[in-house]
Amino acid sequence: MRVIETVAELRHQVAAARGRQERVGFVPTMGALHGGHGALIRVARAQCDFVVASVYVNPTQFAPGEDLQAYPRTPDQDAVVAEAAGADLLWRPDGSELYAPGEVTRVTVGDLGGRLCGGFRPGHFDGVATVVVKLLGAVQPDVLYLGEKDYQQATILRLVLRDLLLPVEVRTVPTVRDPDGLALSSRNAYLSEAERAAALAIPRALDAASGLVRSGERSVGRLRARVEVVLGENPLVRPQYVEFVHPQTLDPVHSVDGGTMLLVAAHVGDTRLIDNRRLEPAAHSPASAAALPQPEKLAGSETR
Ligand code: AMP
Repeated sequence: MRVIETVAELRHQVAAARGRQERVGFVPTMGALHGGHGALIRVARAQCDFVVASVYVNPTQFAPGEDLQAYPRTPDQDAVVAEAAGADLLWRPDGSELYAPGEVTRVTVGDLGGRLCGGFRPGHFDGVATVVVKLLGAVQPDVLYLGEKDYQQATILRLVLRDLLLPVEVRTVPTVRDPDGLALSSRNAYLSEAERAAALAIPRALDAASGLVRSGERSVGRLRARVEVVLGENPLVRPQYVEFVHPQTLDPVHSVDGGTMLLVAAHVGDTRLIDNRRLEPAAHSPASAAALPQPEKLAGSETR
């Protein structure tokens, strides 16, 4: 694996891969790489000939007062994880190339960027869309790999790429969790031992909701109440939102059907964590048998 910084070197390496008729996969990250990032790179490795991973802590997606300065930076570990997962190129862009002095262009996401996480992180998705479009302009991959962990982000980026007519296929990869259920996240590094234990209320709450749905519950009101009870069991956990949404539009739903997404954000101590779960009525449930929409396909298959 080569580690590079400049856009010129990146373009040189990608052009060489293209010259070899290779299919290029791209995994953008903010570093502090863990098994979730590793999974994205491994899926890209399995599906593409040339895999580029990037590490860049993008300042424009942090609102004032958020953790931009404190965000974990682990360059040595990043190189180990990326190489072990099969990346060919690890690109660490320099901010001065991505946001060159005098730049005039930003991507603005509509209404969807102001909902859910966007309601609590003003400008966040504009920053994400802007940097991803820049990164894609530099790499020009065939396939962009994103984690389902950041469900709203993946949904928005699909729409941004569609709207800007960018010829990049988006594939999503299921969330990787620790054995006890906590979704891997670079921000888990902030958690004290007590907070780490408290954070398990999040996957427990998702489990509780999916269990209720499998046993026939469809009412979002009752499901939300149950999720809030589970999250509320530990005072270290302060829920920010608990929303039940349509899997593509992210519009709120009032009754759960096949594919409804449960999205949760909560502070655990000072650390903001997100997680989600697709709510699937049990396959044998008579109520669910007929009208299930196609579940979103996961790793290994094109999604939309
Ligand atoms: P980040 O470094 O947090 O910006 O994440 C980079 C990419 O890794 C995004 O597409 C995330 O959705 C994805 N990702 C982060 N955590 C996980 C996880 N636990 N499982 C799968 N993908 C993840």
